[in-house]
Amino acid sequence: MSNSSIIAEEETHFFGDVCKNFDYAAQFTNHEAGLLDQIKSCNSVYRFRFPIRKGNHFEVIDAWRIEHSQHQSPTKGGIRYSEMVNEDEVMALSALMTYKCAIVNVPFGGAKGGIKINPKNYTVAELENITRRYTVELIKKNFIGPSIDVPAPDYGSGEREMSWIADTYATMNPGQLDAMGCVTGKPLALHGIAGRREATGRGVAIATRECVNVAEDMEKLGLTPGLAGKKVIVQGLGNVGYHSAKFLAEFGATIVGLCEFEGAVYNENGLDVDSVFVHRKQTGSILGYPGAKEFKNSMEGLEQPCDILIPAALENQITQENAARIQAKIICEGANGPTTPEAEAIFYAKGGIIIPDMYANAGGVTVSYFEWLKNLSHVAFGRMSRRFEENSNQNLVNMVEGITGMSLSPTQRSTIIKGASELELVNSGLEDTMIRSYHEIRETWKNNPKIDTMRTAAFVGAINKIAVSYQNLGVWP
Ligand code: GLU
Repeated sequence: MSNSSIIAEEETHFFGDVCKNFDYAAQFTNHEAGLLDQIKSCNSVYRFRFPIRKGNHFEVIDAWRIEHSQHQSPTKGGIRYSEMVNEDEVMALSALMTYKCAIVNVPFGGAKGGIKINPKNYTVAELENITRRYTVELIKKNFIGPSIDVPAPDYGSGEREMSWIADTYATMNPGQLDAMGCVTGKPLALHGIAGRREATGRGVAIATRECVNVAEDMEKLGLTPGLAGKKVIVQGLGNVGYHSAKFLAEFGATIVGLCEFEGAVYNENGLDVDSVFVHRKQTGSILGYPGAKEFKNSMEGLEQPCDILIPAALENQITQENAARIQAKIICEGANGPTTPEAEAIFYAKGGIIIPDMYANAGGVTVSYFEWLKNLSHVAFGRMSRRFEENSNQNLVNMVEGITGMSLSPTQRSTIIKGASELELVNSGLEDTMIRSYHEIRETWKNNPKIDTMRTAAFVGAINKIAVSYQNLGVWP
């Protein structure tokens, strides 16, 4: 087999996997084949190349933006900066965005972008140049805008890149009032929203908590209900992995394992997430963390004893090769596409359960939606109501104290009186979304005994909602 055909094969299975899962779930719906085909296909694939100057030579950068579905506008999804990016991957990720938004009732279609570079090989000035040029290319083709397509961070990009995109878009669209809604995940000081950075990880932790809180389901897995004392292994200490681990620990779980490129550390009595994070930052490696067992082969870390495994790095981590050795009973997918369909079948056959990516990591896009709403309304959440709420609460407390003769402690008083901040509103909107969506998926699953996985149930729900949108658009009878 030639090298190019190996690459071609490797490159073309992720979108195929997503479609395989879609087709399997579609049999539990009753939509006609043409409509299902429309929902499944990628509507617009824009592949482009542009040159940048690096030192005293030019380099051609490969890039993509793919809008999977315009059943809702705008389309939405992150931009991945990675050497591994390819068209198949961006197509798969854009499709997952469509289903993800439908699952958490965020009124967007799905999209994704990719820039084929390793950001570590570029200076900040070069990265800025690449990001601004990428944005200009999108503007030229009408592939970006608050009502068209709204990018966000993904693997390899963050707030800094989003601020360059916003600035480039605003510069090229002078006077456009809603220009800042052209991208989300911006820094707080540049029209971002409180809580967006932690949102995906917080959502993963809430999804996991919701799952383990259902006593009936835990009994089937041989686990006690509740997160307290549950042993968790997290793969990836990036934004999603780090925050998932941090919030799970906050909710009472014990983080026993952390895995990164260079290796994994494990301690059955628990690891302090922040101190492992700092150790890695200072030494350049997760290995050598005091008091922990360590594995130079990072993948071995996933196979250690635990109740819950959170793959929060990249796709294709749990495959038919290692699925049988995973000891966790629950996998909660922080990353997009970490489990292959073959691995999923093996894991369920062992009696496990997988909380699927398109629900589990939807916290990011949920808070992106809040940011976009904030940008369009040009006012921070809580700004109009906070003081009014506090005054009303104050009056109520005064009245109750007057009638009963009781008096509250200063802490009780301030807890009751305090009006909600933007962060509190965002977090409560996120929590509500994750909890409701979990039970929506679970209901679909329980109501159809033939549906065998939570992923299939999530797909069924998503397909039905998207089908309704097409019908509402009048595209389908
Ligand atoms: N890249 C994130 C995801 O895969 C966030 C997308 C967004 O906020 O639009 O869900």
